[in-house]
Amino acid sequence: MKEFKCRRCGNCCRWPGAVKLEPGEAEKIAAFLNMTEVEFFDLHTRLTPDRRHLSLIEKDDGSCEYLSVAGDGLACCAIESVKPVQCRDFPERWNFPDWQKLCGAFSDE
Ligand code: SF4
Ligand code: SF4
Repeated sequence: MKEFKCRRCGNCCRWPGAVKLEPGEAEKIAAFLNMTEVEFFDLHTRLTPDRRHLSLIEKDDGSCEYLSVAGDGLACCAIESVKPVQCRDFPERWNFPDWQKLCGAFSDE
């Protein structure tokens, strides 16, 4: 891949698709958020459309509920240290069709 430099625009966290949770990830996020696993499962996860995995829920605008803004005004993840592997792998090892059109690293602005 051509040199990639994330501009922290947050667009990948607004992508309208599921942020899938791998086994054990929900437990780590629940512990990070100081809540029980049951609370986290009930309040912060949903089934993926194929009903085979859990995913994080979204805000009303479709963005991930953990998308936040840092002191420097750029996007950040409120659960950075325990974010799902899908997020860690984006975009090199996991991405979605035409992701470059959405990713700020490929924008001229
Ligand atoms: S968990 Fe963090 S990195 Fe992953 S989509 Fe949500 S805000 Fe973005
Ligand atoms: S869309 Fe691209 S530039 Fe924007 S935060 Fe995600 S990886 Fe970084």
